[in-house]
Amino acid sequence: MFTAFLIKYAEIGIKGRNRYLFEDALVHQIKFSLKKCEGDFLIHKSQGRIYVEAQGDFDFEETVEHLQHVFGISGICPVVYVEDEGFEKLCDRVIRYLEEVYPQRNKTFKVHARRARKDYPKESMEINADLGEVILKAYPEMRVDVHEPDILLNVEIREKIYIYSETIPGPGGMPVGTGGKAMLLLSGGIDSPVAGYMIAKRGVKIDAVYFHAPPYTSDRARQKVVDLARIVSRYTGPIYLHVINFTDIQLYIYEKCPHEELTIIMRRYMMRIAEHIAKETGCLGLITGESIGQVASQTMNSLIATNEVCELPVYRPLIGFDKQEIVEVSEKIGTFETSIQPFEDCCTIFVAKHPVTKPNVNIIRRHEHNLDEKIDELVKTALETDELVIVD
Ligand code: ATP
Ligand code: MG
Repeated sequence: MFTAFLIKYAEIGIKGRNRYLFEDALVHQIKFSLKKCEGDFLIHKSQGRIYVEAQGDFDFEETVEHLQHVFGISGICPVVYVEDEGFEKLCDRVIRYLEEVYPQRNKTFKVHARRARKDYPKESMEINADLGEVILKAYPEMRVDVHEPDILLNVEIREKIYIYSETIPGPGGMPVGTGGKAMLLLSGGIDSPVAGYMIAKRGVKIDAVYFHAPPYTSDRARQKVVDLARIVSRYTGPIYLHVINFTDIQLYIYEKCPHEELTIIMRRYMMRIAEHIAKETGCLGLITGESIGQVASQTMNSLIATNEVCELPVYRPLIGFDKQEIVEVSEKIGTFETSIQPFEDCCTIFVAKHPVTKPNVNIIRRHEHNLDEKIDELVKTALETDELVIVD
């Protein structure tokens, strides 16, 4: 019976003169996400609101699910719209609406009418009172509560008349694309997909880079990362995933550097390469799934060491999260089951028994000089063999 949705947005409502940019971005993202749904939709802005109107048949559940992946939407209100054929017809329709939406009618309600066109013969207050009366007559078990009604029945008089009362929560945040673009270091673990989700939620478009080390890491490990990118892309839109072959760099570091510093030095090269691609593709920052103290390479000292090789800001949205909190988000966004598949990513292949937890940056730098002979060439080759996978 619902034929449209009123889209509520919270934060983007307060952006002053730039508001239309945010609204346009939101409309764009909604269009993009509904392309994958059955049915045709007309999406339009009207007087500070966004409406999604189905043109013919559509799948209600599927449409709502897709809308729940569009950042910037705080609430999704299913709407019934009716032609304006006089007040009596409207009353009939409202009665039927209540019957269908609330089979259990022992509830309190309040009518909230708005006239978007002033030529309607009744004023809002009058509509509230008259409709209220009709409802009470039809359903004596219902009561009016103007302060905390169970049902806030909205009746909007426009070209057509919109009736709605339910709000399904949206994901919140800001429309993707309003906040620039960043490069996510995406591994097959639990953390980095969540980190990407969190930054994208602030309106940032996401590209990603994955370092693999064939044959030490398998095709399935790589496929897992592509799968994770695909799940995240339900929120972010298409993700340009750069797959970098890291094997030779990793082996070279393994050969030339102390093993307890392996992870840190490897991470430094990942950051350098990620930053290089980021700068070339217009990204304004890097994103990692790091969280203080989670592993040796994520102590504050280790973070100094991995941070110092980059000029771009490194966003670490999980920095203060416990593992359990990260797991909860990953379950919510649907990446958890994929993340826990047991394929090693390249970081875990060459880990030392006792990695340094307090690396000294000066010493790390000195040991990196052991790589001087070949490392530039190896990095260059890694960049040249960058394999781009567009995940959608
Ligand atoms: P995750 O669960 O995200 O894999 P982790 O707990 O395994 O994280 P590390 O392996 O120390 O932590 O990696 C820290 C961060 O470095 C990751 O969150 C990710 O952003 C990045 N990273 C690690 N390995 C890779 C890789 N193979 N490719 C791309 N990024 C990586
Ligand atoms: Mg990892």
